[in-house]
Amino acid sequence: MTTTADTAVDPQFIAYMAAFQVSVKHIAVCEPCLTMQPCETGDALHGDFAAKQAAWTAEQRLQACNERRRAKRRADSRARMALHAANELVTFGQWQDGRPTATPADVARRATAMYSGYLKGELITTIEGATALETVLAG
Ligand SMILES: [Zn+2]
Repeated sequence: MTTTADTAVDPQFIAYMAAFQVSVKHIAVCEPCLTMQPCETGDALHGDFAAKQAAWTAEQRLQACNERRRAKRRADSRARMALHAANELVTFGQWQDGRPTATPADVARRATAMYSGYLKGELITTIEGATALETVLAG
């Protein structure tokens, strides 16, 4: 996840902002550049700014993509933990009126207990428990 604090120390972002400032400062004092017909100096400065902006944007996109992939893997793995717990509760737990008595909260608690070592304090939620319970009952 990119936060303001990360951005503040991101050297690529700092380089991009510095190039932006140099480009803008030059435009302010250069008539040809101001009228969108860059001089030779300006051309290099604006080109450098565009390149650094593109590099930074590409890096942001890559990081966002990696972050989405990590989040997906994490959600999949949590879903498997909840499914395991739901399976146990449905298979070995009590039933009443043709339904297991286990609730989504029971599934969440059970999964959290089974996988506490992997969860690093991020407990399986009741919503995740409900999804797992539905999946097991549907299957
Ligand atoms: Zn210029």
